[in-house]
Amino acid sequence: MKAAVLFESNKPMPIVELDQSEPKTGEVRIKMSAAGICASDHHVMTGDNPTPMPIVLGHEGSGVVDAVGPGVMSVKKGDRCVLSFVANCGYCRSCRSGLSNLCDTNRETGTRQYDGTFRIHTSDGTEVHQFAKLGVFAEMIVIPEQACYPIPDDVPMDVAALIGCSVATGVGGVINQPGMRAGMTVAVIGTGGVGLNALQGARLMNASKVIAVDIFDHKLEFAYKFGATHVINSREQDPVAAIQEMTDGGVDFAFDTFGHKATLAQAYNATRKGGTAVLVGIAPEGMDVEIPMVDMVRNQKTLVGSYYGSASPHETFRKLLDFYSQGRIDVGGMVTRKYKLDEVNEAYDALARGEDGRGVIVFD
Ligand SMILES: [Zn+2]
Ligand SMILES: [Zn+2]
Repeated sequence: MKAAVLFESNKPMPIVELDQSEPKTGEVRIKMSAAGICASDHHVMTGDNPTPMPIVLGHEGSGVVDAVGPGVMSVKKGDRCVLSFVANCGYCRSCRSGLSNLCDTNRETGTRQYDGTFRIHTSDGTEVHQFAKLGVFAEMIVIPEQACYPIPDDVPMDVAALIGCSVATGVGGVINQPGMRAGMTVAVIGTGGVGLNALQGARLMNASKVIAVDIFDHKLEFAYKFGATHVINSREQDPVAAIQEMTDGGVDFAFDTFGHKATLAQAYNATRKGGTAVLVGIAPEGMDVEIPMVDMVRNQKTLVGSYYGSASPHETFRKLLDFYSQGRIDVGGMVTRKYKLDEVNEAYDALARGEDGRGVIVFD
């Protein structure tokens, strides 16, 4: 089995032949179909979000069940699946309280499988981690059955891959926000994969104004296709002042889909009295933000985080697949570049350059 392996940050990932064990109890082997090029992997490559190494990255994927281990009940060989980058255990406190996207067991075991061991190693026996237990930049992956969500036959596999991360995070992060109502005003900072989906989420919620903010005009132009009604280039204009002007004092909801102290402060300051700023993007490890505390009290503002759509990933997938089949969200239109597995490093160069839309690796 071949996979792209990150041995060291800021170095290209070579394609390496790896040995893979059979699926254990509750695990399945997936033949990969499509893998999305998401910024969260890039944060690992640059060292902004350190993980153990060597590691196979990639957490936005779709594939077909190729083999099942003992005791697997929820999927069978041949099922086409969206892959969840949180394979929730179902019995920890977070899972039992309805926040399976934050599963405690999943987080404790991290880049190893649930029993704490590895399924892949190099020819010299070095154990190799799987990002989010997946590591979808590989021809075959062995993962927990809980990571698999079977999908209808008519959903294309590149669409299914994107539903596994950027669509669930972006659309889910908006539609699952408490207090969101039709006619509200929404700002989305950052128009990468998650940002475009947050715009679509705002459109689904019938927002009266959907304002996209980015530093690239070509990305803002692209954002109109996904629901932006207004755009702001924050290199040319102060986005806070511009949003306040457009909305008579600020938006009801502002989403920082980039994840930085500068963009989160913009999101917070662009909300109106009683408004909510939602942090969706992952900032570099250790970064803090300054928030005006008196303003937060006097203007009754809310600052909240949103991870993987703020809810059970499988429930979010169910909704998204319905929206997709009814033509209410555009996922295919986001896929602007297709690559082979051995072009993964070039795919990340395109992401780092800020090109429009999403790159997807398509497997044979
Ligand atoms: Zn992602
Ligand atoms: Zn759990």
